[in-house]
Amino acid sequence: MDYNKSYLIMHIGLWTGIFIALIFALTEIKWIAYIGAMITLGSLVQAAIFYKCPDCKKALNIRGKKPKYCPECGTKLDN
Ligand SMILES: [Zn+2]
Repeated sequence: MDYNKSYLIMHIGLWTGIFIALIFALTEIKWIAYIGAMITLGSLVQAAIFYKCPDCKKALNIRGKKPKYCPECGTKLDN
């Protein structure tokens, strides 16, 4: 898996987590909250593993936008 896919999955996971948290707030069904927490956690864990510079393997900042250049080695990152 490359960092582009990882970034996308992370964001889908986080938004799904927020969405499920909203459902939980409305319904108060506990297992929904567990699933939401798992999805959110899973998306962050995979980002921690795969969201890194393809060149120097330095982990990229998962907060904010995808950088155009690697902050560590300056490799151009395609979007
Ligand atoms: Zn790099």
